[in-house]
Amino acid sequence: MHEYSLVGDLLDQVTAHARARGATAVRKVTVGIGELAGVDPALFATAFETFRAAGPCRETELVIHWVEARWVCPTCARPITRGAVLRCPDCNGPGSLATGDELTLERIELEVPDPHTLRPTTGTSARFGD
Ligand SMILES: [Zn+2]
Repeated sequence: MHEYSLVGDLLDQVTAHARARGATAVRKVTVGIGELAGVDPALFATAFETFRAAGPCRETELVIHWVEARWVCPTCARPITRGAVLRCPDCNGPGSLATGDELTLERIELEVPDPHTLRPTTGTSARFGD
C-alpha cells in the first residue's frame, strides 16, 4: 500500500532529525495532507501505528493537518471559488492549484535532554573525584 511506503519515508526523516538534535524521543509529529494528494488519512494513521514500534517514535503523537484544495489564477493571483468553474472571473484564464496536492512534514516536537545537566558552565562545578 502507498501509505505504508510514505510512512516509512516519514519515519526515516523524523528519525534523522531526532538523531541530529540528540533527542531521546519524538513527542509529536504534524503532517500536512492535501485533499488531492491521493493519501487516505485513516490508512496513513494506521500505517504510522504499525511502523513506529522501533526507534524514537514509539510514543509519538501523530497530528494530521488536512489541507483543502485551493485554486488561484496564475495571471492575476485571484483566488477561484471552490466548486465554481475553474476559470478566473477577471481574465478568464484557467485556474491553477495553489494548495491541496501536498504531503509535508510540518512540525516535529523533540524530547531533548536538558543541556545544563550535560554541560556544567563553571569550572568548579564540573570537577569531581579529586
Ligand atoms: Zn486572472
